Amino acid sequence: MEKKLSQPTKILSILIEGNPILRQKCVEVTPDYTGLKSIVERMHTTLDATKIGVGLSAPQIGISINLFILGGTNEMRLMQRKVFINPEVIKFKGARRKDFESCLSVPGITARVERWQKIKIKYYDLDFNEHIELFKGFEARVIQHEYDHTLGVSFHERLTKDEYIKIEKQLQEIRIGNIPEVDYLINSYDKKRIIGEKEREGDLL
Ligand SMILES: [Zn+2]
Repeated sequence: MEKKLSQPTKILSILIEGNPILRQKCVEVTPDYTGLKSIVERMHTTLDATKIGVGLSAPQIGISINLFILGGTNEMRLMQRKVFINPEVIKFKGARRKDFESCLSVPGITARVERWQKIKIKYYDLDFNEHIELFKGFEARVIQHEYDHTLGVSFHERLTKDEYIKIEKQLQEIRIGNIPEVDYLINSYDKKRIIGEKEREGDLL
């Protein structure tokens, strides 16, 4: 029998640039990781609620585990829902192309990032079945962006110097807490009330 959810799936706040959790390399997920299905479900709810995001990594909701999802929608497209557990890049392929990217953890900034056109990646689904799949175009770009988050790397760290200079000031403002208004739940970095992993674990129980 299916267990009924006692409460609607809770939207989680998204960590903002400046939070050290976004700089950590994530740890591998084991099949017995407590609450994994619930975490992924909440990540999907959180991503959908942003109405602009098409990918979300676990560290962005304060959990430093090697996992990201695709899904959500923006004004351009509806992304197919997908979860990537313990992703591992097998190969980057094709040419490198520059295109605009933004990040839910870095509100108000859009910049042109160079990425590989194709990516072959190994990952596990929620039932821990192994997959090896080739992605291209927009999906490949989003995957490279989210994969970077699991390494503790944000998109602005992939910019050329010229592109970085254009957004440097905005980035500094975000880091000191001057965050542009957004229509989704955020958790800005403030040393006094930084969301820790313990606190987030409490949210998830
Ligand atoms: Zn991002």
